[in-house]
Amino acid sequence: MQVELAEHAGFCFGVNKAVEIVNSEAEKKSEYPIYTYGPIIHNEEVVASLEKKGVKAVDEDEALLCAPGTMILRSHGVAKETEDKLRATGFSIVDATCPFVKRIHNTVRKESENGGKIIIVGDDKHPEVVGIKGWCIGDPYIIKDIKDVDTIPYGKDEKITIVAQTTYNYNKFQEIVDYITKKGYYINVVNTICNATEERQKAARELACRADCMIVIGGAHSSNSHKLYEICKECCELTYFIQTLDDLHLELPKSVRLVGITAGASTPNNIIEEVQNYVRNEF
Ligand code: SF4
Repeated sequence: MQVELAEHAGFCFGVNKAVEIVNSEAEKKSEYPIYTYGPIIHNEEVVASLEKKGVKAVDEDEALLCAPGTMILRSHGVAKETEDKLRATGFSIVDATCPFVKRIHNTVRKESENGGKIIIVGDDKHPEVVGIKGWCIGDPYIIKDIKDVDTIPYGKDEKITIVAQTTYNYNKFQEIVDYITKKGYYINVVNTICNATEERQKAARELACRADCMIVIGGAHSSNSHKLYEICKECCELTYFIQTLDDLHLELPKSVRLVGITAGASTPNNIIEEVQNYVRNEF
């Protein structure tokens, strides 16, 4: 029997990098406290294990009240004003913003500094969008839905740069851009959508269609992990959803030749390894 791990299973590039940065800060064993500005990933076990290493996740309201130390900015990024305030309060900043998100910050900053108008396509309440907004000079316009195009507050002769939240649906973004173009605005479109989620789902589907059994590892409340489970289940009837190895009660019919494994965006590598080793060694 073969065991195969799907490509792009688990952490995306940006989250992986952020977790590595946090671990390396923790290893420095500084005499000052270390914080992350919000949980570094949506995985309680990872956050708890970082806390044991002395890294505390603090929220926006708590942050400025904490004893100064190192503040690690997570992959979503934060507004410039937030970063400046933290520095002014005495924190030393370690920036773990995903480079793809940082690129958006730099684009909106440069364009708005040069007098251009900014449109962000995304959810205005999402921390990533709040962060991007905070790098613009002046207020950007946020488009959550195609109907918001009808109320764009800019003139047709103004130069408008359009960026998107990295997790925005590509087809919807394209529809919005087409509609804005049709209305005759002067736009510069920067496609900032990251395809990490799409690649993970595509690879999981491809493997599930070949496998006799699939194991999806993910958090109980993680929507991207549940989506992976649904995708795998469509192609492979015998699909298990587990959070850790303890949940796995695997019963494999003799006919099983290939077991596939994939994992959601907030599943750490050590859990994926554990499950992989168990299936390889026990069956
Ligand atoms: S932009 Fe892409 S790679 Fe970066 S953190 Fe978000 S999903 Fe991950």
